[in-house]
Amino acid sequence: MSEACFSDALLHWFDQYGRKDLPWQQNRTAYRVWVSEIMLQQTQVSSVIPYYNRFMERFSDIELLAAASADEVLHYWAGLGYYARARNLHKAAIQVVEEWGGCFSESFEEILSLPGIGRSTAAAISSIAFKKRQPILDGNVKRVLARYHALEGWSGERRISDKLWQLSDKQTPNERVDDYTQAIMDLGATVCRRSKPLCDHCPLERCCQAKQHGLTNQLPTPRPKKKIVEREKIMLVLESSEGLFVEKRVSSGIWGGLWAFPLVDDAEVAVEWFESQGVAKTSLAWLPKRTHLFTHFKLNYQPVRGYLKNPSDCVMEAHRGVWYKTATEPAYGFPAPVKRLIKEYEDNNEQNG
Ligand code: SF4
Repeated sequence: MSEACFSDALLHWFDQYGRKDLPWQQNRTAYRVWVSEIMLQQTQVSSVIPYYNRFMERFSDIELLAAASADEVLHYWAGLGYYARARNLHKAAIQVVEEWGGCFSESFEEILSLPGIGRSTAAAISSIAFKKRQPILDGNVKRVLARYHALEGWSGERRISDKLWQLSDKQTPNERVDDYTQAIMDLGATVCRRSKPLCDHCPLERCCQAKQHGLTNQLPTPRPKKKIVEREKIMLVLESSEGLFVEKRVSSGIWGGLWAFPLVDDAEVAVEWFESQGVAKTSLAWLPKRTHLFTHFKLNYQPVRGYLKNPSDCVMEAHRGVWYKTATEPAYGFPAPVKRLIKEYEDNNEQNG
């Protein structure tokens, strides 16, 4: 199949079956496309939609996003994961407002220069929002191209990634680039799925090399297996009549910039910390261990709860934390495991009247 046939077949399929009613496809602006592309990195469309709608209700334009506090932006992102995306989105909005007068640039190089925007995301914004011919290479597109051309090798290797970019460039048409970009991403997400691709419904089936050689299960070549690193932590849940003690984490590392319960490395340090706040070791409640998966490691954490009868100011000064009074407080960005513990605490309080 020639390049033109490839894109024609895809566009024909898109006209019939492509998704055209996604929230970011309505009132299409560079800002709306940009936010959607960042949210869609590593996250499926169905998970993104409710977050996207909520985010857009609050930050309907770039000026509103730039004017918000980082905390509030993280609050609207909380639950989507990969929080660096939200911090970069906010930084980029400030840059666009301060340096470009709030107008999103149409230049591919300038879009690429913004924090958190890589080559494929810049290309997607450029082609979808401004109809400029730019090849993209997100996870879905890599899968379609690797299978269609029966390209072996892990895409994290430079040689393979360069080859995929070349193929993507070769297949990208000169016309209807916005639809083509959406079409190839859609095909990867809905037909050329990671497992059990629906080849019988694929417009590329006739010439797909993986299909012809029975390689759809082997391709794309997965990342070589690495042993998952595990980290052990104790999560310190200090309660008082003032609420729950939470502190803002430094911007780098686990849950950077989010609010969380303090984390320490072992039980001895946990007991010392509670004792330094005036909470006796014997009154501590050790909850069962839990696990939270990050991309590169597994966090095993054990929450330990202690009740402080007289909340003292020196706790705040030492740790720059706050007492979080749940429902009455303004928005904080909490990571999912902390949110869950807060919810359990609220449910408990409700049950105990
Ligand atoms: S024929 Fe199958 S493997 Fe090939 S591109 Fe289509 S869905 Fe993917």
